[in-house]
Amino acid sequence: MEVITITPRGYCKGVVNAIEIAKRTRKQHPHDKITILGMLVHNRFVVEALQKYQIYSVDTDKKTRYELLDEIDEGYVIFTAHGVSERVVNKAKAKGLKIVDATCEYVSFIHTLIKEKLDEGYTIGYIGKKHHPESEAVLEISDKVHLIETEDDLTFTNEKLFFTNQTTLSSYQTAALYESIARKYPHALISNEICSATRCRQQAVMKLERADAFIVVGDPKSHNTQKLAQLAQNKADHVFCVENLEALLKEDLHAFQKVAVTSGASTPTKITQQIIHYLQTEEIIPLKTEDVI
Ligand code: SF4
Repeated sequence: MEVITITPRGYCKGVVNAIEIAKRTRKQHPHDKITILGMLVHNRFVVEALQKYQIYSVDTDKKTRYELLDEIDEGYVIFTAHGVSERVVNKAKAKGLKIVDATCEYVSFIHTLIKEKLDEGYTIGYIGKKHHPESEAVLEISDKVHLIETEDDLTFTNEKLFFTNQTTLSSYQTAALYESIARKYPHALISNEICSATRCRQQAVMKLERADAFIVVGDPKSHNTQKLAQLAQNKADHVFCVENLEALLKEDLHAFQKVAVTSGASTPTKITQQIIHYLQTEEIIPLKTEDVI
């Protein structure tokens, strides 16, 4: 079997930074309670590895970050790479929690940009995914920030319009939506803020000529992993989105001559390496929970 390893793939700068911040907080405060508001990154193996450091997450799809804060009563709270709104920051402060902010710099930049445009009198159209923590934080900035998921949401009548987006969307689908926006609102300002890590990983998938099968390694909850898997469908008839080697071993890959591998920005490097090594040699490198971060 020929194994094509797509580059770049895996951990982005924002994820590496968030994990380092969490580990450093534990080192500096060995006896304090440390809780992550949500999943530090969307990967359950990272969450499990952090538990080995006595760092726990509160997370459920049904609650917002603001509501989840009710479950943290003491110690340090870590805000994830996806960012939080000022409302969440203020509630954490009011509860007497010590704040550690692991928001990715690309996300912080979007918050600053939107606040600037609101001050200038713009109404904001934000392309994003409903209930995703990154969108949730941005939508809480002001009721003048409106979520756009499809063209049907383009119902603005305002004069001054500013459009931007979530960092981890498909750069191809977002570009198509921006074309519609530019046609419908020719005077609107547009700032495409798909982060460079997301864009480069997607472009690398699209550069591949063709493979018999494409393996995308990542957590099914990870938005950027989902987008890579969608793009991979253009390049192979068989796409397997798997969270680890155990999941891949359930698939029958023997019929494939040429297999491509990539991974989402929140996928631990060691998990992807273990899969690539297995595909190349059929050997399994043992991996302990704490080894993945
Ligand atoms: S995917 Fe992009 S925005 Fe999200 S943490 Fe990574 S670098 Fe930051």
